[in-house]
Amino acid sequence: MTVPLTVVWFRQDLRLDDNPALQAAIARGNPIVPMYILDTQHAGHCSLGSASKVWLHHSLDALNKSLNNHLTLLQGDPIKLLDELVNQHSIDAVYWNRCYSPWEIERDKKIKRLLANQKITVKSFGANLLFEPMTVLKDDGTPYKVFTPFYKNGCLKRSAPPRPAVKTTQSLTLKQLPTATLKGLDLLPINPWHKPLMNHWQPGEKGASKQLKHFLKQGLHHYKTGRDFPAEQAVSKLSPHLHFGEISPFRLWHIIQQEGVKQQIEDQSEHFLRELIWREFSYYLLFHFPDLPTKNFQSKFDHFPWKKNKSLLQAWQQGKTGYPIIDAGMRELWQTGSMHNRVRMIVASFLVKNCLIHWREGAAWFWDTLVDADLANNSASWQWVAGSGADAAPYFRIFNPVTQSQKFDPEGHYIKQFVPELSSLPAKYIHAPFDAPDLIIKDSNIVLGEDYPKPSIDLKTSRQISLDAYSSIKNTT
Ligand code: FAD
Repeated sequence: MTVPLTVVWFRQDLRLDDNPALQAAIARGNPIVPMYILDTQHAGHCSLGSASKVWLHHSLDALNKSLNNHLTLLQGDPIKLLDELVNQHSIDAVYWNRCYSPWEIERDKKIKRLLANQKITVKSFGANLLFEPMTVLKDDGTPYKVFTPFYKNGCLKRSAPPRPAVKTTQSLTLKQLPTATLKGLDLLPINPWHKPLMNHWQPGEKGASKQLKHFLKQGLHHYKTGRDFPAEQAVSKLSPHLHFGEISPFRLWHIIQQEGVKQQIEDQSEHFLRELIWREFSYYLLFHFPDLPTKNFQSKFDHFPWKKNKSLLQAWQQGKTGYPIIDAGMRELWQTGSMHNRVRMIVASFLVKNCLIHWREGAAWFWDTLVDADLANNSASWQWVAGSGADAAPYFRIFNPVTQSQKFDPEGHYIKQFVPELSSLPAKYIHAPFDAPDLIIKDSNIVLGEDYPKPSIDLKTSRQISLDAYSSIKNTT
């Protein structure tokens, strides 16, 4: 008699460590079919961006290797594919870890119903969030909309996130079903722009673990103070690993806590854990307010007089605005698939508030170019910067890219790395080359308007226009 198979459907949990669906399948004892399905049917406007596809390719490669090349790869509509599979093979159980995007929730509900009707055991688990959104509510039963009470009352007052499971992959019996090839998923573009991008990263579980070790040694001890300075090595760079589930948030939480105690730097480690809760808050908002990626959280922003300005948008995308900190950030994004958080806030504020370009345009560009593009974090963060979000930055807080640059990149190290044509400028002038005396510009071998653009927009005027635009909607509902 053939022993029935358990399918473990990997999704945003591309790891073997502390993976509840996999652990439960191992505990069940039957042979396991580890599977990844590239969903080409349900994602709609949330389909993977170009940089995410590249990351996914490498992450699946890493996962497949750690499964001794037993990963079954499929692409198409998971509803149809799983239906066919359970009819063609002796599968009697399908396990997965939960995803939280609205389209995934809808799809998974349908799959659960369909498989249950065929007497297949379906089990889903929580693996990607420390606190599952449906379990955290205010005393009156409604969802939190403000971060601090969510953090303090919704999360910290509960019992600590569970400890990660001990790895038990020794007893793994794997079976592979007829599979597509990784190359056949067409995740890599024909033009090899992605090759230099990947010099900055090692997708997959091993890469995540290396990155964490590096952060514990080099970054955590000055995280709180250094995290705002893009030239410092103070942040973890774990966001793409967290997004693809290559590292368990539970393991991360407990390691950071222990390390804080061990290195006697609890103020730094607590600040890091608070940032992890910002990630939870984004997922929480997306879960309870599924329109977050497309609609203003505050409906008064529906009347905001956004402008269409193709050339300004292009200058921003290409890092040619004439404001060095903005251009450094946008070029960092282009070259590495990522951007430091402080600079993300500055470039987003510039686009939305100085240029009056809709936050959705910025979110769409980030979605395509970030290796950590994440529906929850990206949507919540853009709405936060725009002022239209839950608990958002007040609209009148308009970052001045020059003063932000002077404050957070005082010596211009970050700017020089990504805008090398300005590297001969003295630090005093690198933040606003257009204000530098002619002699300094000449001595630095720069011709403004040729080697480096002149400012694409006037900061003072655009700030005032922006404030007026906000006043026009302030009292609407
Ligand atoms: P660290 O400072 O080391 O923080 C550790 C982890 O905490 C991060 O990996 C991330 O998961 C979480 N985190 C940190 N800061 C934030 C934050 N402000 N909001 C939510 N979670 C946070 N993050 C994404 O993961 N994907 C996105 O698509 C994304 N889009 C953004 C768009 C804008 C306009 C802005 C302002 C921020 C965006 N962020 C996004 C949040 C933040 O910039 C990144 O999570 C962070 O820069 C990742 O770097 P890190 O891993 O070194 O962070």
